[in-house]
Amino acid sequence: MGAKRTSLEMYRLKKVLDVLASKEGRGTELISLYIPPGRQISEIIAMLRNEWGTASNIKSTTTRKNVQDAIVRVIQRLKLFNKVPENGLVIFCGAIPQGGPGTEKMETYVIVPPEPINIYLYRCDSRFHIEHLRDLIREKETYGVILIDSSEATYATIRGRRLEIVDEITSGIPGKHRAGGQSARRFERIREARIQEFFKRAAEYAEKIFLPIEDLKGIIIGGPGPTKYEFEKGGYLDYRLKEKVIAIVDTAYTGEQGVKEILEKSPEIMRNVRYVEERRIVQKFLYEIGHDTGLATYGEREVRRALEVGLVDTLLLSEALETIRVTIKCSSCGYTYHETMKRTELLGFSQSLVDKPCPKCGMQALEVAEEKDLIDELAELAEAAGSRVEIISPETEEGQMLLKSFGGIAAILRYKMEQH
Ligand SMILES: [Zn+2]
Repeated sequence: MGAKRTSLEMYRLKKVLDVLASKEGRGTELISLYIPPGRQISEIIAMLRNEWGTASNIKSTTTRKNVQDAIVRVIQRLKLFNKVPENGLVIFCGAIPQGGPGTEKMETYVIVPPEPINIYLYRCDSRFHIEHLRDLIREKETYGVILIDSSEATYATIRGRRLEIVDEITSGIPGKHRAGGQSARRFERIREARIQEFFKRAAEYAEKIFLPIEDLKGIIIGGPGPTKYEFEKGGYLDYRLKEKVIAIVDTAYTGEQGVKEILEKSPEIMRNVRYVEERRIVQKFLYEIGHDTGLATYGEREVRRALEVGLVDTLLLSEALETIRVTIKCSSCGYTYHETMKRTELLGFSQSLVDKPCPKCGMQALEVAEEKDLIDELAELAEAAGSRVEIISPETEEGQMLLKSFGGIAAILRYKMEQH
């Protein structure tokens, strides 16, 4: 599989999907179309023509017209492709109200997914169905799952939304209730020894299954009751596996049911893994700042300067940065300059430009020519300079510190910055 998704790619995909998620139709008239690789364009067009015919039964005139118009648009877009791209194709199209009633505008989004989509879906709804694309941007690394209680152990892998049960073993240990005539102490002793044997065997299976998996990102241990903690603490696991344990989770069951429970909780578990990563990155920055090594800098102006001279090793940007970079242009002489501001300040700012003279020609002809998220703008600079970009959430203490104490923009440097 491909390289690890960067936090920047995740951020960008998430943003597009957020835009799509915010779109709502007047009625059930927004089309979502997922075409997996290998399908014929002609076959899809035939299906859409058929849907166009069916849509003539829709009672509401406006909805009928919007649905049929959308279908025609989708067909037009499809005709631009000779064949379905190798990762498949996703098209969203529909009339989106821009304000009050009657303000609908037909919007079309064509997305070639970054990875193969293996789903065929045609749906007409009041919203766009983006959940299958969301699945794509989920964590793609492999996680190992060990579910254990005193009677059995289940081994599984989780990759995105896919889970695979790899193996299951049973302990053969009878329940806690001893047979009549047996002494309680003797029963306990025997049971304890058998559990230890089972733990050893369970750990051997874990080694056999998980050690060969390259890039195993983490291991989640689960199961009902306290057995899983005893197993984890008992030192049965190979150290290479033990250091990969990222969570110990309560589940009601072992077996497939239990693995499904883990899958349900996995977004949260994996988010926590990312938080640990984020904290480490910010702590590295804080160390450089705190020890005055000269290998870190912060604030938009300083970081921009470091980026421009190629000094930045890692650029840290707070996800909560609601700042934009505005390009102001004089429509009389063409003079341009930039300003950075909060997104909420943009309206007031553009109004204030009306009676402001151009710094070059003096005419009152300044206007906002472009606005761009500062995150996108700085990230592009960093990519051009070959710097790593880390988008840091505000969810951790370190993330808050980056945002509040350092303005949400910081950099770890390759070399010391020259004094100026
Ligand atoms: Zn001017």
